[in-house]
Amino acid sequence: MTASGRSFDCDVLVVGGGIVGLSAAYALMRSAPGTRVTVLEKERGPARHQTGRNSGVIHSGIYYRPGSLKARFAVRGAAEMVKFCAEYGIDHQVTGKLIVATEREELPRLHALVQRGRENGIPVRELGPAQIAEYEPEVRGLAAIHVGTTGVCDYGAVAAQLAQASDADVRYGEEVTAVDRRPWGVAVRTASGTVVRARALVNCAGLHCDRVARLAGDDPGMRIVPFRGEYYELTRPGLVRGLVYPVPDPAFPFLGVHLTRGIDGGVHVGPNAVPALAREGYTWSAVRPLDLAETLRWPGSWQIARRHWRYGAGELHRSLSKRAFTQAVRRLLPAVTEDDLRPAPAGVRAQAVLRDGTLADDFLIREAPRTVHVLNAPSPAATASLPIGREVARRALEALKEDRVHHPGAPGRAPGR
Ligand SMILES: Cc1cc2nc3c(=O)[nH]c(=O)nc-3n(C[C@H](O)[C@H](O)[C@H](O)COP(=O)(O)OP(=O)(O)OC[C@H]3O[C@@H](n4cnc5c(N)ncnc54)[C@H](O)[C@@H]3O)c2cc1C
Repeated sequence: MTASGRSFDCDVLVVGGGIVGLSAAYALMRSAPGTRVTVLEKERGPARHQTGRNSGVIHSGIYYRPGSLKARFAVRGAAEMVKFCAEYGIDHQVTGKLIVATEREELPRLHALVQRGRENGIPVRELGPAQIAEYEPEVRGLAAIHVGTTGVCDYGAVAAQLAQASDADVRYGEEVTAVDRRPWGVAVRTASGTVVRARALVNCAGLHCDRVARLAGDDPGMRIVPFRGEYYELTRPGLVRGLVYPVPDPAFPFLGVHLTRGIDGGVHVGPNAVPALAREGYTWSAVRPLDLAETLRWPGSWQIARRHWRYGAGELHRSLSKRAFTQAVRRLLPAVTEDDLRPAPAGVRAQAVLRDGTLADDFLIREAPRTVHVLNAPSPAATASLPIGREVARRALEALKEDRVHHPGAPGRAPGR
């Protein structure tokens, strides 16, 4: 494969074998058959981070600002995800879900969600306390909404299927450590010394996307601040039939601790949101000084701490005290006791934070020469992964067109370590 007489190992090189990177590879294959795609993933298999450590919910799109990428891609993505799972025989179910107000002051926000859902074209039904009990006999609330298009699936299995169906050259155990971008192409080096030359680069590195952007020489204008979400498993899963969510706090992009009956029939309670002390810090004892120093050096981290210390302190308390966590869950599910909750594996969200402390709310996809960076793909990006992948692929294919306008120059060197 040549452009301006140079040799390339592939047309598009994707960094990251999570659901977003693999969806991009899949979309490239579908929209431009014959495009040679290589995916480099640092772990030994797909979906080892966010994609394999989440609630497994196919979100309807009710929460998101009409017109935002999240709203458009989640609504479309939910329907496409159900179809994809059906086509490839992946476990999934469209269960519907309840969003339940337990306090009076939550009622206006619940009504605003009804409005937003309708604006986003989502079927919603308003429920009073007696109707809540018809869906969920153990759940208590003042009012609720039922959202019909929410479901559950196994995103790890979806990612593995995307890898297979994309026909891409997916290489595991290859961590990208250096990027050399030139006008005629991009060369990356991995920790094992492999060099891959491509005509365009796609960065879907999730918790490390800002670092990969900087390796490419781009200033992403944000940093990933990792927020861990901890879960418990309900040892009496019969207490919950389906999916039950609180009314979210609009100050945060997180949905609040919810009750989720997963595709395996188990019920998870969580996730909360506490600062992780490493980008892949799944427990309090996982501390990486380099990650921590990077978070603390970013002015936006201090702004978040200043603005949200009260909420943060509550989350910390509920993380360290099972009793406090249980008490919070009892607002929705009064019958639950501490003994009903067994710790389950946590996930860490890659949340983009701007310099001024703004928690980036919408998906953030940025382009640089021959490069597409996915800089914010938190929930519901698993739901929305197929449309996100298409959008990334479209932009990457645009970047390939630069070949037509660039003049030949000196061959690219292999990047330094
Ligand atoms: C607790 C939690 C609950 C969630 N619940 C839901 C939900 O119910 N529904 C929903 O739709 N979304 C949910 N999400 C969000 C969803 O999981 C993510 O939006 C989605 O998985 C993001 O996919 P990704 O491919 O961008 O990231 P990841 O899955 O994190 O993939 C990024 C990949 O890049 C690799 N990588 C990083 N750096 C390098 C490098 N230098 N070289 C090579 N490889 C590299 C990593 O190893 C990783 O595999 C949740 C997230 C969390 C954390």
